[in-house]
Amino acid sequence: MSSNFACRPSMGPIFLIAIFCAGVCRGQSGNTSITEWQYGKNGAVSITYDDASRNQFTRALPLMERLKLPATFFVITGPITGSQYHGKFVGRPVQQIINETATVPTDERNFLERCSAAGYLGYTGTISYHTRAGGLYSSGKKEHAYRLMDTLYAKVRHGDFAPGYEPCPEYKEAVGSSWDDFRKDVANGYEIASHSITHATMPGLDEANIKYELEKSKEEIKNQLGDKYTFSAEVPYGYEDDKVMQIAYKIYPALRNRMPEPFLKEIDRASRMLPHPAERDYVQWQRGPLSKTSLTLMKSWVDTTCDNKDVWLVLVFHGIDSLGWEPTPMGKLEEYLEFIKDRQDKLWVASFGDATRYMREREHARVSTKKDNGTFQVSLTHSLDKKMYDLPLTLKTYIPATWSKATVSQGKITQPLEVQRDEKGNFVLYQVKPNDATAVLAGS
Ligand SMILES: [Zn+2]
Repeated sequence: MSSNFACRPSMGPIFLIAIFCAGVCRGQSGNTSITEWQYGKNGAVSITYDDASRNQFTRALPLMERLKLPATFFVITGPITGSQYHGKFVGRPVQQIINETATVPTDERNFLERCSAAGYLGYTGTISYHTRAGGLYSSGKKEHAYRLMDTLYAKVRHGDFAPGYEPCPEYKEAVGSSWDDFRKDVANGYEIASHSITHATMPGLDEANIKYELEKSKEEIKNQLGDKYTFSAEVPYGYEDDKVMQIAYKIYPALRNRMPEPFLKEIDRASRMLPHPAERDYVQWQRGPLSKTSLTLMKSWVDTTCDNKDVWLVLVFHGIDSLGWEPTPMGKLEEYLEFIKDRQDKLWVASFGDATRYMREREHARVSTKKDNGTFQVSLTHSLDKKMYDLPLTLKTYIPATWSKATVSQGKITQPLEVQRDEKGNFVLYQVKPNDATAVLAGS
């Protein structure tokens, strides 16, 4: 957590604090904390897009690039040109399953197998049965889900569908992007993250098929873009199903569906709850603008985030213009993103992965300050995996009133800092790489 190691009252006996403070704390000078958000901003916003529908990359992305705003794209990996892994059923030959359905009705024992296989029976038009049955099963309407499977398999046995393979609409709308495109996008600072291979309805899949959808999508991204982009994921349709989440947590460190953390309160897209009081260090406030959501309401989310110290606004967009689920018209998106851009003095706009990294690193960090020969030596460490959590954090250090100029050095890099002032005194804000060389603050 943010703290000045030397001055934290919980450190122990008062005399110890007094000894430390004699050197470091006089008039706050040397007191160092990790700011709640990067650059000392009031709040954070992550702009995310689901499904990789083609217009996100041909229309929304160029706008984001013009405004220099980062974003996270949760992509369905199967339809991306160059993908190695595509949709498939992991299990017995489907003909065996089809034959069995002639005499054995669907029930708890065979539902997940049948629902997992439903899109891969060798016919077009069957995937919607998987999607609907998985949704019914997840919402507790299990008998409905079983009957829907019986209907599907009866139609298959009677030859009611044309032969072939047909994925879900979201999958088809993602066709057109390539991994070559995505390699350029990540080089420009955008986060590409997993949204499964086929946009499957995971509460309707058995464990082997859930793992296939999540693990192979991760492997695809790792092979195409590198480890950094295997951090974030969103299980399709926003499901928070326990069985699915328990599997997904083991595969992806940061799930947008649900992120249980002692420091984070979560408000999902359907909730009307407001993000204050947060009760915990941070609150993740997910909002999903639909086609009809008013710009006034959308702007109010940003204002609320600016006005509260602990809010992480996670925006979830789907379709753009006429393509994709609940599409946002480009004109509306442009006005909204410009509104966000205009508030960047108060907002840290960051990818979903970077905002997650920042909070976790800060919550597991330790910062200490030592006075040495007129300088402050600041060390920042955290206890997380150093390869995955390598985001620099922003530190705030109070400096002596006599310093009109200040610099920070970490390793070989030295940077000038702006001296700022609040009610406690003069301070500087600067970024430090965790678990790296000691940072040195010098002034004159
Ligand atoms: Zn989706």
